[in-house]
This record gives sequence, C-alpha cells and structure tokens, in this order.
Amino acid sequence: MSAPRQIVFLGPPGAGKGTQAKRLSHHFGLGVCSTGSLLRCEEQRDSPLAHEIHAYLKDGNFVPDALMLRMISTWLTDQGAEFVLDGFPRTLAQGKALDAFLEETGRSQAVAIWLDVTTSEVESRVSHREVCDRCGNVWPRDEAPKQCPDCQGPTGPRADDSVELFRSRLAEYEAKTLPLLPYYRQDHRLHEICGRGSPDEVFRRILTALDS
Ligand code: AMP
Repeated sequence: MSAPRQIVFLGPPGAGKGTQAKRLSHHFGLGVCSTGSLLRCEEQRDSPLAHEIHAYLKDGNFVPDALMLRMISTWLTDQGAEFVLDGFPRTLAQGKALDAFLEETGRSQAVAIWLDVTTSEVESRVSHREVCDRCGNVWPRDEAPKQCPDCQGPTGPRADDSVELFRSRLAEYEAKTLPLLPYYRQDHRLHEICGRGSPDEVFRRILTALDS
C-alpha cells in the first residue's frame, strides 16, 4: 500500500512540525501549508483581518476556529487532493471540520503525525532558535546565517518565542490540541513519532511510520 498523501502535523511549539512538514512535502512532491506562516503573512497587511489576527498572536493565543477554517479551506480548495499541513488542525473542532471538508470534496481522510517532544526540550529549542522571516526555515541560534540560503529572507528570533509567549502557546496546545490525539488514535490515523534527535533522524522515523 502506498504511503498516505494527506498528512497533518501535530505537536507543541518547537517540536519541529514546520521543518518536518517541509521535508515531507519535498519528499512526496506535495503542497504544504503552515497556518502560522499564513497568519503572520496576513498580519503584515493593513486590514481589519490583520488587526484581528494580531490581537490573538500578540498574546500567544490561537485564532478562533471560524477564522482559521475560512483561511485553510481557501488554501485546500486551490490545492490538489494531496497535501501536508503544518499547524492545522489545532483544535478538535478544526479536526472534525477538516474531516467533513475532505469528505464533502471527495478526498481521502488525513493521517496525523504527532511529534512527541518533552516540554523542557521544546522550551530550550525555542529559546535558542532563529527563523527565516520569509520561508520559516529554522536554525539553532549559533548556526543561524544572517540571510536564509534558500529564499534570501532575513533571519532572527521569532517574536512569539519569548518565554512568556511560548508559555501561552504551550498552554493553548495542552488545552486545545492534545484532545486531537485520541480523536485520530481512535480510528488508527495517528502516528506517534519521537521528536528527539536531529531533523534527519526524526524524518527517517516519519518515513518508516508512513510506510508501515
Ligand atoms: P506556528 O507558526 O505554527 O507556531 O503558529 C503561530 C501561531 O499562529 C500559533 O501560536 C497560534 O496563535 C496561531 N495559529 C497557527 N495555526 C493555528 C490554528 N490552526 N488555529 C489557531 N491558531 C493558529
């Protein structure tokens, strides 16, 4: 049986969702959407929507499901039947809405990859990382280039990686995202992947799990 090509990534902030989602999308030649990047990009505009998004992101809170669903369904509608999602769904309501959307549009149900990383590990990663503003590439701070080698975007710390905002984001994850694990597990759509180690090691675990 071929590996599933409708894949969503779950995990706490700093687990490596973005890095692994990008790798998987290159590996299989699939479109990838990071909802965090989508929101940060929209937030740059001068519009009522940008102000609304900013009000949530500045405090490390999730944006409301209805807003997120509007944005992701536009992306999914433009996309083929196969995709990788980084950071969506993040709530049970989003998970159920995604299933309903895929069913209505005649597509296969998604499988979820949960990157399991301890709180102390993600806290340390987030406080020592820099990212590319434009494409979201991530480096440990002492290895970060001044300019992203892939897209030439500027690099630096992410505003919401401050200790305070990281803690809010983690609290949101624990309260709202963790309930998705039993939801995907109950019908055998959850791959629980140890997120410790190098990106290469984690990626190998993901490919092995998807092949099984
Ligand atoms: P990320 O880049 O995935 O860490 O996302 C950055 C921030 O965007 C998160 O901390 C949330 O505030 C918001 N966000 C991203 N994806 C979602 C989502 N699916 N639902 C609600 N808020 C989201």
